[in-house]
Amino acid sequence: SILSDQIAAGEVIERPASVVKELIENSIDAGSTEIDIEVKDAGLQYIKVVDNGSGIESDDVKLAFKRHATSKIHNRKDLFKISSLGFRGEALPSIASIANVKLKTSTGSGGTELNIRGGEILRCIPAEARKGTTVEVSDLFFNTPARLKYMKSPATELSKITDVVNQISLGHAEISFSLRHNNRELVRTSGRNNLQQVIGGIYSLNTVKKMVKISSTDDDFKISGYTSLPEMTRASRKYISIMMNGRYVKDNNIVKAVLEGYRSKLMIGRYPMAVIKIDLDPLLLDVNVHPTKQTVRISKEEQLCSLISLAIFKALEPKNL
Ligand code: ADP
Ligand code: MG
Repeated sequence: SILSDQIAAGEVIERPASVVKELIENSIDAGSTEIDIEVKDAGLQYIKVVDNGSGIESDDVKLAFKRHATSKIHNRKDLFKISSLGFRGEALPSIASIANVKLKTSTGSGGTELNIRGGEILRCIPAEARKGTTVEVSDLFFNTPARLKYMKSPATELSKITDVVNQISLGHAEISFSLRHNNRELVRTSGRNNLQQVIGGIYSLNTVKKMVKISSTDDDFKISGYTSLPEMTRASRKYISIMMNGRYVKDNNIVKAVLEGYRSKLMIGRYPMAVIKIDLDPLLLDVNVHPTKQTVRISKEEQLCSLISLAIFKALEPKNL
């Protein structure tokens, strides 16, 4: 029902940045190689995500807005080895229940356009479109004024959107992303699978010059990425980005493991900048802990943490610099 969609929206869609995150994740799951995002007034007025992914079959378009009607999990077994970013089938129905949504999609032949507002389908018609999907979201929270009151300043909301796009592009250097706000370009990545270039674009080229490559593998985990020299630090752990199977996650134990890799070469209260990519068997990773899927449970976490610490320690050994 629309009411239960709105309740789910309360958990999944906290702010404009949550919409941006969910839409981009859908585009990635659809195999897109190019994802362009446009927002107006920090996303509260307008959010558009254009992708060149698989598109949605005409018959499935309405279904995509029904809760738990995900196309990505087919049975219980799938639930334990999730390789797609989405799997709960909640994002589109949640967003549509609290905003005005226009979706245009094509699998390559024909296409569909659907308008839905506050959970009510207003229109669903055949429409020509290039292969891929475009989702436009306007009037976010128009029918949940209490939630609107929780919004921070436009500058803060916009920086949360930029953070999301940056985080996701660090996890997917093989996809080209762009983000425009009120017609100003804030992010652009090449999609040429060059992580160093993505880091340089997000932070700065000088930053990249003060980072070293890390790489380590054991039977269960493959670690790759970059971490900063001990002299380049920040006052916040925000600059430690952790990506597990391409998903940006928050994990204090991994942050601790990163810090340990420096073996007290860091000043107290200072944090390195790091991009840590971890690839593992999806069976070892439980992402179904929280609706936003940023909190995860990892089997063999201690083993993973030691591997990360060691990878960083080795990368910082003088002979490697
Ligand atoms: P989930 O991602 O958890 O499956 P969503 O509510 O985010 O649930 O999306 C519902 C369904 O709509 C997806 O399972 C997918 O089949 C389809 N879908 C949504 N966005 C896209 C897109 N950009 N490209 C192709 N299919 C999409
Ligand atoms: Mg999704």
